[in-house]
Amino acid sequence: MLNLLIMGKPGAGKGTQAAKLLKFYHLTHISTGDIYRREMKKGSDLGRLAQEYMKKGELVPDDITNNIVEEVLNQKKYPHGFMLDGYPRTRSQAEALDRILSDLGIKLNAVINVHVSDKVLLERMAGRRVCPNCGETYHLRSHPPVKEGICDVCMTPLIQREDDLEKSVLNRLNIYNRLTKPLLDYYREKGLLLVINGEGSAQSIFKELVTRLGDY
Ligand code: AMP
Repeated sequence: MLNLLIMGKPGAGKGTQAAKLLKFYHLTHISTGDIYRREMKKGSDLGRLAQEYMKKGELVPDDITNNIVEEVLNQKKYPHGFMLDGYPRTRSQAEALDRILSDLGIKLNAVINVHVSDKVLLERMAGRRVCPNCGETYHLRSHPPVKEGICDVCMTPLIQREDDLEKSVLNRLNIYNRLTKPLLDYYREKGLLLVINGEGSAQSIFKELVTRLGDY
């Protein structure tokens, strides 16, 4: 059983690494961002509440998020272990997680931080485009569509995700630097932190991660 936590600034590519690790180690994915997006799609009260924070790039209040994670972890649907993604994001969430895990008698094996500089991040995020119809993603520089502004797959005009707009991106980065970055020290002190350079190719980053996780 491998219990991981993956962290990284918004746009660091932690989603890509998370997907690869999940498949490789057969882990259960626990992503608070995905949970909120699902609730938004369903139009539930929780989804509507979360949307107010998400569209501004702000964090949903800690007690709401902690309760959701506690509920999911208590269900114990992770036969090979889990990967927490996008949680915790604040000191109080990290402390809540410690309590939840200790109540369940479970330990984290490692906390992965995918590190990318702010400059590279802003460039990556500003160029991101997504198809609102089929979900295909593009990047103006590294992966542009054949016809400018149009989805290659279904010919729908591309959009920027609301939380990829520059103002929101900067807001999310500021929040990360202020609230989430201190968690790196929190986990370093516990001897759990594994920092990986996120500026290389997705495949080489993944290979290095698996090699280093081999020690756990
Ligand atoms: P993500 O996909 O992880 O970037 O999450 C998208 C948005 O969902 C964030 O910008 C927050 O508004 C909200 N969210 C996700 N995870 C958390 C969390 N751990 N605490 C508070 N808000 C969160």
